[in-house]
Amino acid sequence: MLDIKENVPLSEHSTFHIGGAARYAVAVSTVDELQEAIAWAKINKVTWRVLGSGSNVLVSDAGYKGLIIWYRDKSVNVDEESGFIEVGAGALTAVVAGAIARAGLTGFEWAAGVPGTIGGAIYGNAGASGGEMKDSVREVHVLEKKGIKTYKLDECEFAYRSSRFKTNPGVIVGATMKCPRAENSNDPMEKMKEVLKYRMDTQPKGLASSGCIFKNYEPTDDEILELQKKNVPENFLAAHRIPTGWLIEQSGLKGFQIGGAQISPVHGNFIVSTGDTKSSDILAVIEQVKSVVREKFGVELEEEISIV
Ligand SMILES: Cc1cc2nc3c(=O)[nH]c(=O)nc-3n(C[C@H](O)[C@H](O)[C@H](O)COP(=O)(O)OP(=O)(O)OC[C@H]3O[C@@H](n4cnc5c(N)ncnc54)[C@H](O)[C@@H]3O)c2cc1C
Repeated sequence: MLDIKENVPLSEHSTFHIGGAARYAVAVSTVDELQEAIAWAKINKVTWRVLGSGSNVLVSDAGYKGLIIWYRDKSVNVDEESGFIEVGAGALTAVVAGAIARAGLTGFEWAAGVPGTIGGAIYGNAGASGGEMKDSVREVHVLEKKGIKTYKLDECEFAYRSSRFKTNPGVIVGATMKCPRAENSNDPMEKMKEVLKYRMDTQPKGLASSGCIFKNYEPTDDEILELQKKNVPENFLAAHRIPTGWLIEQSGLKGFQIGGAQISPVHGNFIVSTGDTKSSDILAVIEQVKSVVREKFGVELEEEISIV
């Protein structure tokens, strides 16, 4: 029996801690329950949407008029011998990183300290410190209209902060990952500590956010010629990726604030909530950043977060 709740404040279910309520919300932990929840939405003629930990979303002030579904299969099974890992989509990415490292497997240490669930991380091909989901994911299991479908790595269309799951309907319910055994000289637990320290040193602390707001900018060859004239460092252009935090900082926007929404003085690509922030404040800062960066560098920033 589903425990569908009404008028659930989504501010309590997203790391920004702002925005309105969901008309209906339910947590499920099996595929059967998930199918039941989707059927309930259909019968009651409301839209539905799956969320993980809400660490990459901005909930609008008006909230969500339909049914929010949390898929909470948090299972993590690591086979130390073969290096295969079976995970439920509701497992926390950082918990999975810890389990993999403790088993002496390597390649997923970058995910230490990344908030959110494996489902959300696969959806956006999350990444940090040179690693991405696509490096360790082998198969993704998705509930679609006709039942569970398994996508092999080369069918997932992983790209920078993107995957086929962003543009095709379906709920990610689990994944198979594979990580190689660490060499004796490489201790995955030590590597995780380094990754966590780097995050602590470079990201704002103590204020609510949704991580990086914009994707880093990937210029075309034509744009690179223009950007050279605007003193964008050669190493960014050679990598075909300009850190958006740098573009925002160079535009003089660090610390810029509307209402409670502030561009973090620590990291230009973070918008932090300084208290009593409305979703509309965040959206206004996003628009201002896009406009100033467009004016100064001639590039169009794209949001990394999804709007609910
Ligand atoms: C402080 C901070 C630091 C961060 N650092 C990083 C970082 O280093 N690298 C990085 O990549 N990201 C980072 N993020 C962003 C965020 O942690 C990741 O994008 C994370 O993977 C989102 O997972 P989630 O469960 O919270 O997804 P949610 O925010 O709940 O959802 C994000 C999107 O995924 C969809 N989704 C979620 N679960 C499923 C599912 N099971 N099936 C289908 N669709 C689904 C949702 O509909 C939504 O559109 C950071 C965020 C914060 C707050």
